[in-house]
Amino acid sequence: MKVLKFGGTSVGSPARMKKLLDIINPQERQIVVLSAMSGTTNNLVEIGQAYLAGDKAKAANLIQILKEKYEGIIKELYSKDEFYEQAKGVIDHHFGLLSSLANDLFTTIEDKIILAQGELLSTTLYHIYLKEIGVPSVLLPALDFMKTDEDSEPVVDYITSHLTPRLDKHPEVNLFITQGFICRNSFGEIDNLRRGGSDYTASLIGAGIRSEEVQIWTDIDGMHNNDPRIVSNTKPIAQLSFDEAAELAYFGAKILHPQSVFPAQKYKIPVRLLNTMDPQAAGTLITNTSEKDKIKSIAAKDDITAIKIHSSRMLLAHGFLRRVFEVFERYRTSIDMITTSEVAVSLTIDDTTYLGEITKELAAFGTVEVDVNHTIICVVGDFAAEKNGYAARVLDAIKHVPVRMISYGGSDHNLSLLVKTEEKTEVLRSLHSRLF
Ligand code: ASP
Ligand code: MG
Repeated sequence: MKVLKFGGTSVGSPARMKKLLDIINPQERQIVVLSAMSGTTNNLVEIGQAYLAGDKAKAANLIQILKEKYEGIIKELYSKDEFYEQAKGVIDHHFGLLSSLANDLFTTIEDKIILAQGELLSTTLYHIYLKEIGVPSVLLPALDFMKTDEDSEPVVDYITSHLTPRLDKHPEVNLFITQGFICRNSFGEIDNLRRGGSDYTASLIGAGIRSEEVQIWTDIDGMHNNDPRIVSNTKPIAQLSFDEAAELAYFGAKILHPQSVFPAQKYKIPVRLLNTMDPQAAGTLITNTSEKDKIKSIAAKDDITAIKIHSSRMLLAHGFLRRVFEVFERYRTSIDMITTSEVAVSLTIDDTTYLGEITKELAAFGTVEVDVNHTIICVVGDFAAEKNGYAARVLDAIKHVPVRMISYGGSDHNLSLLVKTEEKTEVLRSLHSRLF
């Protein structure tokens, strides 16, 4: 049984929703995971922020604008009164709920409830559409089987034990529709898998039911070998390993939620990235294996802060790095890149929430320097194929650009560079022309 996930743009308008049946084959048993319609989650975030700020009038106004948008959508989506009326009831219910939160004490619990409405709306409206056109389907509430534990980690076994019986209950139905992104946390409250989390949902379901394949349908034909917004002549990558895909997704390739790679990897479920606008295009296939002897792709991640700790005490000392890392651990800040010399260590973070506290504590070890506005450029490929001198080619391609950090050898398939963000375009283009 395959799992197909459609992102916000793929369900972004009534016309798009209707086109999904060009891709979904109702003769095949499958689970369809939908995101919220594009823009909706952002709008819901704003509504939450307005409530949080105590600005109920603003929240009410934003709710009204979004509701009117959905009223327009359902006028276009359905042609029969019966189904239009059902959808109208659904909209009234969800927007009524959003409005009613004005009466509650507003905490993160209410905020998560708000964010969940986008996926609840898109799936319910699509399910009603399928009913109107006579395609049998079952709407499976993700909140019944998608669950995270005390560490906010999704529980695959829970998905298996709670989703499988729900599928078995409908042996005659092929099409199951469910929400991406949303889940219940360990307290049973409504929660989510963080922004872009619908990919993660699809991969988790794929793992939970040991699916034959997970398909992520977006609006680009797979993962590209460089950022198409910056470099021309980028090409989709035919094949990636899970490790390579995770690296690229984490270091900037926006097409895939980075965590979504891991459940599929663990249970060896192939993941295909495909394009709704061009369903015949091959896209990218992510599996356990990778083509040898190739540079696969270049990705860039902005808003990186570099921190250098310079200390003569580091010389010949043991335990120094542990004490440095512990500071970051205390502030739940993850480190992306790290390079060391005998007297200094440099590392990068992207979450600067606790930068002030962190640098203050690090000052106890030595002098601390902070460089903001940097970009990690990540080159992914078979660097173990030494004879090709890929590392040398990478460095040669950027010899005219100052490089703040280089990380090589952490794995066989990655070389990362830290440069000033203002150099990013030049670095991406220069690497592209030298490597591909
Ligand atoms: N709707 C959620 C978001 O915009 C989840 C997703 O689309 O993957 O972040
Ligand atoms: Mg996405």
